[in-house]
Amino acid sequence: MKKIAVLTSGGDAPGMNAAVRAVAKVALAKGMEVYGVRRGYLGMVHDEIFQMNGSHVSGIIDRGGTVLLTARCLEFKDPKFRAIAAENLKKRGIEGIVVVGGDGSYRGADLLSKEHGFKVVGLPGTIDNDIIGTDYTIGFDTCLNTILDAMSKLRDTATSHERTILMEVMGRHAGDLALHATLAGGGDGVLIPEIEEPIEMLAYQIKERRRQGKLHDIVLVAEGVGSVFEIEKQLKEKVTTEVRSVVLAHVQRGGTPSGFDRVLATKMGAKAVELLEAGEGGVMVGIESNELVTHPISFAWEGKRKYDIRKDYELALTLCK
Ligand code: ADP
Repeated sequence: MKKIAVLTSGGDAPGMNAAVRAVAKVALAKGMEVYGVRRGYLGMVHDEIFQMNGSHVSGIIDRGGTVLLTARCLEFKDPKFRAIAAENLKKRGIEGIVVVGGDGSYRGADLLSKEHGFKVVGLPGTIDNDIIGTDYTIGFDTCLNTILDAMSKLRDTATSHERTILMEVMGRHAGDLALHATLAGGGDGVLIPEIEEPIEMLAYQIKERRRQGKLHDIVLVAEGVGSVFEIEKQLKEKVTTEVRSVVLAHVQRGGTPSGFDRVLATKMGAKAVELLEAGEGGVMVGIESNELVTHPISFAWEGKRKYDIRKDYELALTLCK
């Protein structure tokens, strides 16, 4: 295969640039032509496709966000628009596509592959860590560290005022960010969508901590659980401590990618090119037990998650006491 394209799609994540850089540099080193697609599938439909050289990816490894830009493109669910995108790629002789994004982006790539014969490789790019077939996604570690930094700052003020702070973090339907932040940041309570716990349990925990002489609580609330303000309202009826809510929001998406995310993205980017060079497609790349692995791309929505979140949740509860 001589010509490939790379795009970032769905929500941005720190480390996407490192992945794009690796795809471009490895492909160029192998004598391939590499094309960048701007604004995800939107740019593919609107022909925002350009040939890349080394200068397009120089100085980007430490930058958050994505230099290729990303967008949501609902039209891509319509085969008519996918046919236009396919034509834009084919007129340049592009045969292989690397898409860095989440499972929605993988679905788009899978359809493009089945309908128009492209070889596609999906790389997991999302802060949420919610992709089946990989232990970690590109961006998760950086985001986790951003949350930890905010937690430390909130703890200073929470202790000084003896408050309970509910901190809402991202993660879509996954509790990984909230749970890992609890484990790594010494959180005092955690609510995740995978495990339903009555609010009474959290209230009891808070009261028990005060009885032990603890002055503050930082409780991580995964966005998938529901509105943190609603939880605040319910909790206030059950505890006497002052409760405040903080929504960390889009701060979590930004920042220079961590070393872990850069290495992960770089290795995955290189692997994607190797797969395409060998004529393989229809796969996603993951990391499992510290090894790069591949799964059929549909594994992201048909497979079963390996991660036993309940075990880590129970550990977190033990440590929250
Ligand atoms: P993510 O890739 O992070 O899961 P989205 O679900 O928003 O994010 O998907 C990103 C893009 O992928 C969408 O804007 C759309 O262009 C494309 N996409 C998502 N789902 C499908 C689908 N079922 N069929 C075709 N394209 C899709």
